[in-house]
Amino acid sequence: LYQPTDKADVLAGRKAHFGGNLTLTYSDPVMLVRGWKHHLFDEWGRPFLDAYNNVPHVGHAHPRIQAVAADQLKRMNSNTRYLHPAQTAFADKILSKLPDPFEVCFFVNSGTEANELALRLARAHTGAKGMVTPDHGYHGNTTGVIDISAYKFNATGGTGQVDWVELVEVADDYRGSVKRDDPNRAQKFADLVDPAIAALQERGHGVAGFIAETFPSVGGQIIPPQGYLASVYKKIRAAGGVCIADEVQTGLGRLGDYYFGFEHQGAVPDIVVLGKPIGNGHPLGVLVTTKEIADSFAQGPEFFSTFGGSTLSCRIGKEVLDIVDDEGLQENARSMGAKLIAGLTALETKYACVGDVRGMGLFLGLELINPDGSEAGNICSYVQNRMRDHRILIGSEGPKNNILKIRPPLTIDSEDVDMILSALDSILTEVEHI
Ligand code: PMP
Repeated sequence: LYQPTDKADVLAGRKAHFGGNLTLTYSDPVMLVRGWKHHLFDEWGRPFLDAYNNVPHVGHAHPRIQAVAADQLKRMNSNTRYLHPAQTAFADKILSKLPDPFEVCFFVNSGTEANELALRLARAHTGAKGMVTPDHGYHGNTTGVIDISAYKFNATGGTGQVDWVELVEVADDYRGSVKRDDPNRAQKFADLVDPAIAALQERGHGVAGFIAETFPSVGGQIIPPQGYLASVYKKIRAAGGVCIADEVQTGLGRLGDYYFGFEHQGAVPDIVVLGKPIGNGHPLGVLVTTKEIADSFAQGPEFFSTFGGSTLSCRIGKEVLDIVDDEGLQENARSMGAKLIAGLTALETKYACVGDVRGMGLFLGLELINPDGSEAGNICSYVQNRMRDHRILIGSEGPKNNILKIRPPLTIDSEDVDMILSALDSILTEVEHI
């Protein structure tokens, strides 16, 4: 299918026919044509360790996903207007992972769509319009969710902040206004929601809700102090709003100790949004909520998505969740995450440019800093590119792009963790000598 010489053609075709604001990773982009578990192969068959991609949650090209997809496509694929046991089986499986108040699932095609729907549900249930959200969050690419994604609306050329949105500081206790050594930091960060609520009420928007990535990712792989969300949710509910947890990056066992991020926070949201990993590459988004909120939404026009909740999508989604259980992938995320954190913490001690190691399970960040403590985006970019030379794909995040992001498929094993740590060790030595 692919010839090694195709790469230049593919790049030229992309430049000619794709939008200029679609970015490519690496100055010399990687072309990838095969995958297996947490490994990817380029057009020459050269292997890369995928330490970045959260979509292939149970691994690239999983044989069980291939088998259910092929089986269902051989039979038929249709929408939710007809009965099929795969739909209720998928809903039952998701609900078995969530606490009691969650009863109703909506199936869509992406995280964006699920968040867009979450906005509609929040507004239908409360009759209010205003939203509170942490600064530098990301919830998707449509007009509606861009307005609650500061990472996009505040970017150069972005559309700017609308007046029904109030931003609060991300609960980043490394770089934020309250530091990790403050025992009251969860409450202090949560209290920042009070003036945001007041401002929305003053402007007559009321409070429809609060939406946040449970652990902010584009904000810099932040783990908010325990109890932060519980306190924020209390304030939002007191103001009449609903609490939306965007678990697209944090859900489904990636955190090791928790199946969902909100469990760590001692908080139960009203709406949970799932995306990317739940389809393992097949486009799939899910919104889960309470009966009361779903009933409020049901007062409005019919909600229907042609492809959302298709027979194929439901079979794939359920298979992904089953594989996480059957292969013990949440436990693997816990143990491999612990090994990574131990190794990264050793690097933090060894290299002055490593300012902070944070994360949980296989949701990790390494904050790189200059001697004066400021954000070292240039070092981060250097390390990310050099990791690619070592055939390890890794990400970068944060408002100043200085946080290395490690977020591999949950299948990663001990030897691969050693490979990541040893490559980082040698590359950070280069940084010290630059
Ligand atoms: N929420 C979060 C936290 C995400 O990371 C993303 C995708 N990066 C989305 C929503 C949007 O998902 P999608 O690209 O599938 O629409």
